[in-house]
Amino acid sequence: MKIGLFDIDGHNFPNLALMKLANYHKQQGDSLEWVNHLEKYDKIYQSKVFTFTPDNHFILQADEIVKGGTGYKMYNDLFCDGVEPDYSIYPQFQHAYGFLTRGCTRNCTWCIVPKKEGNIRPYRNIETVLQGRKTAILMDNNVLASEHGLQQLGKIADLKCKVDFNQGLDSRLVTDEIACLLSKIKWIRFIRFACDTTPAVEPLLKAIEKLNKYGIKNYRIFVYLLVKDVAGANERCKILKRLGVNPFAQIYRDFETNTVISGEQKKFAWYVNQKAVFKATEWENYRGKIKN
Ligand code: SF4
Repeated sequence: MKIGLFDIDGHNFPNLALMKLANYHKQQGDSLEWVNHLEKYDKIYQSKVFTFTPDNHFILQADEIVKGGTGYKMYNDLFCDGVEPDYSIYPQFQHAYGFLTRGCTRNCTWCIVPKKEGNIRPYRNIETVLQGRKTAILMDNNVLASEHGLQQLGKIADLKCKVDFNQGLDSRLVTDEIACLLSKIKWIRFIRFACDTTPAVEPLLKAIEKLNKYGIKNYRIFVYLLVKDVAGANERCKILKRLGVNPFAQIYRDFETNTVISGEQKKFAWYVNQKAVFKATEWENYRGKIKN
């Protein structure tokens, strides 16, 4: 069979599903390439991760086109999920990518994970994800809520590989013991958390205090900041700024209704994420100077 792969979101981040499909079809002896609109294929796999990415509008030539991914609101498991990813289709990325756990114990109203993946469960060991690589981007949604996840963290510390949990850790679950464990891990750059609502501030501050006790400095801490109402997000942001941690604003999007995003939300997110501007001034000053 002649297989075409189409990564709709582009190539800023490798698409794990497409890497698994590539490995699966190579094992079947099929030929495989990135989609060329002038070529005809037996089957095309078209994957989209983000709902806000524009869809493909080119005409594709194939007997069958299989769409998948959260971007298409398709949450079913990949038929070849057990296959390991084929990194050769993304030679520009050097890290390993994967999950140690799937799912989450919580049910935040704005989040698609509970609907898509259900409750937390063990998924892979760190060695399986690494495939001999020295660094890994781990996309777990709540690794600290899983006994298996905590065991893997211990192994990560022992292996001395570098990791990034790019979806953030749950600050509510950072006990003294977990803070100690996190301090033994080599991080690619940041330890990430989230501070999406006002009630999330207190547990985050407590987690930071514990991490500080075990030698983790605030500049190593990165915090996702959900921007729904700008005033509330700004209050949370000021607290983070005073502490010297790194906030990253993410505009709230409702996956079902495709909420309209206000100009104010966009400006605030831009202000927070442009570090030179963010460090130089407060939102109130910046807001006063820019045109509507
Ligand atoms: S804790 Fe994180 S992953 Fe879990 S439901 Fe809330 S936002 Fe989603």
